[in-house]
Amino acid sequence: MRGAVFSSLCGALLLAQDVLAQQPVSVAGYSAPKWVLRRDGSSSYACKCYPGDYCWPNNGQFQKLNSTVGGNLRVNIPPGAPCYNTFKGPLGDVKTYDAAECAKVTANWYDEQWQIEQPAAGLWTYFTNDTCRPTTNPSDSCTLGYYPALVIMAKTTAHIQAGINFARDNNLRLIIRNTGHDFLGRSVGWGSLVINTHSFQDIKFTNAWRGACDYNGSAVTVGAGVQAFQVLKQANALNPPKVMVTGECGTVGVAGGLVQGGGHGPLTNFYGFLADTALEFKVITADGVLKTANAKINPDLFWALRGGGPAAFGVIVEATYKTFDDKPSSGVSFDLALSSNATLFWEAVRIFHGYSTHFVDNGLYRSTLPSALRRLVLSSHLHHRQPTTNHCRHHGRQHPAVCRHHGLDGLPMPASQPLLDALGS
Ligand SMILES: Cc1cc2nc3c(=O)[nH]c(=O)nc-3n(C[C@H](O)[C@H](O)[C@H](O)COP(=O)(O)OP(=O)(O)OC[C@H]3O[C@@H](n4cnc5c(N)ncnc54)[C@H](O)[C@@H]3O)c2cc1C
Repeated sequence: MRGAVFSSLCGALLLAQDVLAQQPVSVAGYSAPKWVLRRDGSSSYACKCYPGDYCWPNNGQFQKLNSTVGGNLRVNIPPGAPCYNTFKGPLGDVKTYDAAECAKVTANWYDEQWQIEQPAAGLWTYFTNDTCRPTTNPSDSCTLGYYPALVIMAKTTAHIQAGINFARDNNLRLIIRNTGHDFLGRSVGWGSLVINTHSFQDIKFTNAWRGACDYNGSAVTVGAGVQAFQVLKQANALNPPKVMVTGECGTVGVAGGLVQGGGHGPLTNFYGFLADTALEFKVITADGVLKTANAKINPDLFWALRGGGPAAFGVIVEATYKTFDDKPSSGVSFDLALSSNATLFWEAVRIFHGYSTHFVDNGLYRSTLPSALRRLVLSSHLHHRQPTTNHCRHHGRQHPAVCRHHGLDGLPMPASQPLLDALGS
């Protein structure tokens, strides 16, 4: 149902294109013929080509792309669609109701890994405009919202290159999608073509990296789709066990958005950001060329990929990072929740933050999520590299190698008493 095979549906797509076709326009300053002029009040914009625009590729072009990518081009149907009689998308009305599939979608909707495995879903569904959530009323409306229009489930480097070339040549909005974690919704986008990199799952360790820099120590090369818990699990099984810098959340990818945003995690106090540990990337740039980027080859690109912003400079196919000897560590997690008294809540946040330097100076990593939307919650995790007797009480679904950073006991908690004092009882 989701991600229906493209060939069966693109006739309808062509129809929608015919109905909504616009006349070509020329826009001063742009030589590309396929920019689309859009107006908003008195302002005009030269925009990319979206479903229904005169320049939207035709059936034959999509068929050709589909065969170039080994049949892995899909029309994107939102994951909630099986709960609705009809999905009203750029293809027109498509019958989608499937009771068993709807039950599955409803049961899994808040399951992170399940969302990650959808072809083009975002974990933060409000970026899709929430126009097709699971429902018990099949006659409700399900529309595309800001979900992408098409997805390439890339299996090879050549598939990624074909997707980049097609998007560039046809002026389509291109989105790279790994896990869908992006806090700003950048792994979804209305009317876009998505390249899904999740199937790039190779993990290779070495004890003696030989590359274009002075570093000769241990390293790991990971494919674009590898998640933190996967690489940490394998690293922990090595003799001796190894670790690498990852985000705190085990399901975030390690070669996609994380490194391009810097990438902080429980080991950052010791080894820096994930970007600081990067040794090399294989990356496909907008010209469709696969490049190596390291300290000597394409050093500007290497610099840009280490914190320059996700999806800004190319599609990373694989990344190599330093690994480090594992050491025992521990952590604590606590939530502070108040149903009222915002002043007291924010005073608690202030006091807690006042200890930040103290935590860091004592080798602690801290991540905090204050939320005042529905109730006042300060959710915080502290990690320390010292032995613990209790592993992973709150992250039980993760592998012990990850959870070693999430134990609860044996940790000095200088902040806890002032925090409690501030909260009264
Ligand atoms: C629950 C949760 C916990 C988090 N914890 C941490 C944390 O501890 N530390 C931290 O630093 N960050 C954390 N983040 C933020 C996270 O690192 C970023 O959202 C990151 O961009 C996710 O990358 P991704 O590739 O897994 O996800 P995606 O949403 O798939 O991609 C994110 C961005 O990267 C781009 N991108 C993905 N793959 C590629 C690729 N192969 N080549 C080029 N561009 C690509 C996408 O286009 C998008 O713009 C967390 C996010 C969530 C939701």
